[in-house]
Amino acid sequence: MRMLRRTKIVATIGPASASMERLRAMIRAGMDVARLNTSHGTLDEHRGMARLVREAAALEGRPVAVLLDLAGPKIRTGDHAFEGALELRTGATIRVTPRPVPATEERLTIGYDRLLEDVQPGERILLDDGKLELLAAHRDGDDLVCTVVHGGVLAPRRGVHLPETELTAPALTDRDREAIAAGVAEGVDYFAVSFVRDASDVLAAREVMEGLGADIPLVAKIERRQAVEHLDEIAAEADGLMVARGDLGVELAPEEVPVQQRRIIAAAAREMVPVITATQMLESMIEAPRPTRAEASDVANAVWELSDAVMLSGETAVGRYPVEAVAMMDRIIRRAEEASSGTDRDATMAPEHDDHSYVVALAARRIVESDANMRGIACFTRSGYSALLMSKVHPRAPIFGVTHSETVYRRLALARGVVPMLSGAVTTTEELLRVVDDSLLAAGYVERGDEVVVVASLPVRAQGTTNFLKLHRVGDAATYQW
Ligand code: PEP
Repeated sequence: MRMLRRTKIVATIGPASASMERLRAMIRAGMDVARLNTSHGTLDEHRGMARLVREAAALEGRPVAVLLDLAGPKIRTGDHAFEGALELRTGATIRVTPRPVPATEERLTIGYDRLLEDVQPGERILLDDGKLELLAAHRDGDDLVCTVVHGGVLAPRRGVHLPETELTAPALTDRDREAIAAGVAEGVDYFAVSFVRDASDVLAAREVMEGLGADIPLVAKIERRQAVEHLDEIAAEADGLMVARGDLGVELAPEEVPVQQRRIIAAAAREMVPVITATQMLESMIEAPRPTRAEASDVANAVWELSDAVMLSGETAVGRYPVEAVAMMDRIIRRAEEASSGTDRDATMAPEHDDHSYVVALAARRIVESDANMRGIACFTRSGYSALLMSKVHPRAPIFGVTHSETVYRRLALARGVVPMLSGAVTTTEELLRVVDDSLLAAGYVERGDEVVVVASLPVRAQGTTNFLKLHRVGDAATYQW
């Protein structure tokens, strides 16, 4: 059996990947989760793409989750008053305003309604990923008078960051609400919530979604300084976290990014939710067929830090080598996992605790790792909970996540170490073991007579703790007399 890859791959879909042929090739290369980014394109386009991903996954016979990333309140500069480049000179004075005005060297728009109320004198305003920097001096009518600290050429509609400002505008925009409705209608598997400040932003997205009768996991993107400060409450409220290093790296100093990456991964481990490490992982593959050495190391380190998934953005959305980027990520992850000694797991895992479900999961791991004949952990899971729990104790052996729910089957595509398997429904323990046998044998990962540990939550009709553990010989269920 080829070693199964544990760490999952999220790939962003864009013009470079938006065809059936490309999607199928990316799935074959290892894409587990397709990310649709509502910062670009129309909601209708994303609806169509969600369907195309589903079709491609069905044709490849693979579980692929769809993650709809809500754009959130991305702040941008306005358009220019003239053709060509606008140059801001270091040391010059410039007025900024939330009102839409054509940008000149004297005045430009920053498209944030509460700019004048929220930005205080002495706070920095970063333009175009921090390439240009302004310092707020004082308010004058509808303008904020600023000094240009680092000048340069400013193109129209560049991103703006206010790293020192307590932003009072909520993370959820009206367009995000529409996107949630579209995602619910399309049955997407995850939402990502951008620019959250604290747990209230996650709750707001949940309320909108639940108001539509849906219960789709929410991944909170940690990309603001405010989110870093409220990390624990966000991790407690969200169903997953993303280390969104693109924006985070502008809000914080570069040396803070790897530190916060570890902190965010640790917070996800404590809350037992999946965590995605994102952005610039193989950035140079937007243009080149091979990544840099530093990028390869970055992916491997994210694997050793126990990320559930690593993410590709521009590489697969607009790059020249979308399929190759997924294949390269797959290779780097496999090699990193193969070379992992186990000390990284013990150093990185959240502290153990006494919750019964958790102790059952730990026992399953212990058994499977202490007996070379054991092929893996078969986890029958209705809601996905038991499989996620198994994933979070990081057994070295594969976790076969057997479920009769198509939704859970796709959602488990994000969970580290879990091989999702779709089964028929079960009502009794006897059926459960038969279904596990049938699923494992049909998938070809084990042979009749192989040993596995089975974990589940019983009785099968109830949803509760992970309370069942059985040492099981695959194929024996058919012979049981109950
Ligand atoms: C990021 O900032 O790293 C990120 C993932 O967000 P986006 O790509 O939506 O800017």
